[in-house]
Amino acid sequence: MVRYVYDFADGGRDMADLLGGKGANLAEMTRLGLPVPPGFTVTTEACRAFLATGAEPQGMAEEVTRHLTALETAAGRELGRPDDPLLLSVRSGARFSMPGMMETVLDIGLTDASVPGLAKVSGSERFAWDSYRRLLQMFGSTVMGVDAALFEEAITRLKEAREAPDDVHLEAADLQGLVETYKRVIRDETGQDFPQSPAEQLRLAILAVFRSWNGERARLYRRREHIPDDLGTAVTVQRMVFGNLGADSGSGVAFTRDPATGRPGLYGDYLANAQGEDVVAGIRNAVPLAELERLDPRSYRRLRDHAQTLERHYRDLCDIEFTIERGTLWMLQTRVGKRTAEAAFAIAAELVEEGLITPDESLARVGGEGLARLMFPRFDTSATGEPLAHGIPASPGAAVGAVVFDSAEAVRRAGAGEDVILVRQETTPDDLPGMVAAQAVLTSRGGKTSHAAVVARGMGKVCVCGAEELSVDTGARRFTTRDGTVVEEGTTVSVDGSAGAVYPGAVPLVASAAMRYLETGEQTDGIVTAVARALSRADSVRRLEVRANADTPEDAARARRFGAQGIGLCRTEHMFLGERRRLVEEMILARTDSARDRALAALLPLQRQDFTGILAAMDGLPVTIRLLDPPLHEFLPDRTELAVRVASAEAAGRRPDPHDVELLDAVSRMHEENPMLGLRGVRLGLVVPGLVAMQVRAIAEAVVERVRAGGSPEAEIMVPLVGAVEELRIEREEVERVLAEVSKESGVAVHCPVGTMIELPRAALTAGRIAGEAQFFSFGTNDLTQTTWGFSRDDVEAAFFSAYLDKGVFATSPFETIDRDGVGRLVRIAVEEGRAARPDLKIGVCGEHGGDPDSVHFFHGAGLDYVSCSPFRVPVARLEAGRAAL
Ligand code: ADP
Ligand code: MG
Ligand code: MG
Repeated sequence: MVRYVYDFADGGRDMADLLGGKGANLAEMTRLGLPVPPGFTVTTEACRAFLATGAEPQGMAEEVTRHLTALETAAGRELGRPDDPLLLSVRSGARFSMPGMMETVLDIGLTDASVPGLAKVSGSERFAWDSYRRLLQMFGSTVMGVDAALFEEAITRLKEAREAPDDVHLEAADLQGLVETYKRVIRDETGQDFPQSPAEQLRLAILAVFRSWNGERARLYRRREHIPDDLGTAVTVQRMVFGNLGADSGSGVAFTRDPATGRPGLYGDYLANAQGEDVVAGIRNAVPLAELERLDPRSYRRLRDHAQTLERHYRDLCDIEFTIERGTLWMLQTRVGKRTAEAAFAIAAELVEEGLITPDESLARVGGEGLARLMFPRFDTSATGEPLAHGIPASPGAAVGAVVFDSAEAVRRAGAGEDVILVRQETTPDDLPGMVAAQAVLTSRGGKTSHAAVVARGMGKVCVCGAEELSVDTGARRFTTRDGTVVEEGTTVSVDGSAGAVYPGAVPLVASAAMRYLETGEQTDGIVTAVARALSRADSVRRLEVRANADTPEDAARARRFGAQGIGLCRTEHMFLGERRRLVEEMILARTDSARDRALAALLPLQRQDFTGILAAMDGLPVTIRLLDPPLHEFLPDRTELAVRVASAEAAGRRPDPHDVELLDAVSRMHEENPMLGLRGVRLGLVVPGLVAMQVRAIAEAVVERVRAGGSPEAEIMVPLVGAVEELRIEREEVERVLAEVSKESGVAVHCPVGTMIELPRAALTAGRIAGEAQFFSFGTNDLTQTTWGFSRDDVEAAFFSAYLDKGVFATSPFETIDRDGVGRLVRIAVEEGRAARPDLKIGVCGEHGGDPDSVHFFHGAGLDYVSCSPFRVPVARLEAGRAAL
């Protein structure tokens, strides 16, 4: 028989697949002996069965009843008993944390009949009515589908009528009236009454949590975080403890370290006389935990001890939700906490120092995307005046954009290409689309553990929260600063998530400390030391080499400073641009061999000079130079432009410029419907006489020049877009011929390995034969993705990729992360057959995928020798190559 329900005492943290993260960690805390209110968890398996069939799985209801009875027996009272009701929370919890995305219903079991009983045992009428109105509100919206705003409006109207600044100032009689209002709202909206049977409440709440897995918010979040849609959520049922029983009660959120900086020490927010939802929702402003130390030192000390127990046990930063009921501390949740990139590096280094984790574990806990974030520029505030406002630095980084005041506007403007800053009093899960669209989130309320802060950190989005000096008027679409400055929607501001400040206008940017370190090796602060350690660990364990894609001596030099071990792709097309266009035109238009040779001869010294500079910058390291790849007509003027020039001259009765006429004729002749699949790559070399010879001669002569200057040039020659081994054989003969010629002329033996790009499916599928002629392979995964999928990248990304992502055809663009099943399969075939034919075949990848963390892990697994990426991604690739080797 399948088991659908587990008591906390029967679970553990390794059971997160079945019990969800929350349920598994509650079980773990129970087993560690921490004070957790007793309860049980209904499994994700039950949820999956329910969502698949629409009916409760067989036996689940009986199991729930059995566990409930055990809970009642232990508590010595029954769910909803009129004179002393046992109350429950019903909580969602998936395998991966999805903060605020699904539903939780508190105070289950309370009914008209048991409110007086609760008032009597608690000694507080107010508390009893407050709990009941909370139940009606949560149950009404979550389980019965009433628009949550209707409840919000009712309580706001009541507070206004009573002139109560917040809900703590509402009295028992007010809340009793509110209960009547809420019941009426439920009846009007659903045609049904709020159920007065505690058992029925429980059953419906469990099913509603199951259903919330497929809610719109939850689905959007999963898509963004790449969480699979078929996992389901578990449901945790737990005895209620009460933070809203008066001044000696309260709720809070704590981190075992600062999640923004990683600094050690208990960190968090506390709200007296409140249930936990109030803290996260930012309804009232929470106070720092230091305040709890003053209010209730005993509970504070316990919390600190438990935090330490958890951090030592999990060997990582944990976040904690807790509630204090009349001086007794209860632990309601823990998990390994989300953190900023900066904190991730700092904590990973610190825990090694403390002997809690090994250097390899430490490396596993940092990531390339985080490193990339630390490399982003920071604001240069040296010349800016006073900030508009200060707030809490909740998620670091620098963002500039136009302020907007609601999620829909953020989405609309971002869709039109504008950078926006989402400004709210506080955010709720409904603001998620706007937060995704915005460059930064700015709120006037809530602490570092508010919804805005937690979600922004998870996304790596800049966030300043709790900027209390701002008064945000969402309706009028503006905010006002303390000194009365009014900032209207659409105004540009700069948000500094590291310092917690907002500046008017666009503040200029400077290099970050991590970037300065990578450029100069200068270790200025702790975070830079942590980055340096992670990178050096990665370098010592990785098998993949990391090269850079660089076309100029400057880029080559930077890549080298960033740790590149060579150039994996040096494109030569830019060497045909600018002032050299004229020579290229002459070459293309040449009618005689001698005219063409003249043009090529003029290009030769210029190219040689380019190569000499790059080989000097990469002295002693391999430089893979790709022969000319794009179609030649790309170097000619635009056809329409030429046609207009010629036609308007004719219309004006003038004789058109003969050069224009000649060019127009050539461009028309060379026009291609699909240039991507046209006369380019190796095909050019085979049909345009002299082109390859000129390029190879320039390379070989550059090598000679460097050798004579005492250098160690290591040029490699790479032939693009090969589909058949014959193409490569013909081109390679030409290359070898020229190399031999230059060797003979110069007396310097020039040996350049000759290899090919693998960027057509046919090349991958005939790699064994191609390897007979190639000394190395380099996967051009951009073109290989285009040709495997039949996508023209420039056309499809704008046209339908977002629809494909929405419909789940793929989770990320195959141009960002390698498509393992299709393109990746071709890569594996080519590696296997290439190496079988030539065991010492050197294999790399160039193209955007070389700097993408997930793809780097794939290339490691596929047995490549190196990845090559843009210079700025080199540190990212080094780090990820190290992590892949763990
Ligand atoms: P989320 O996944 O959104 O954090 P939770 O299931 O943790 O949702 O519930 C939200 C809040 O409800 C918790 O932070 C806690 O304060 C409160 N809560 C949950 N269970 C209980 C309980 N047994 N007693 C008191 N409060 C609870
Ligand atoms: Mg919740
Ligand atoms: Mg929680």
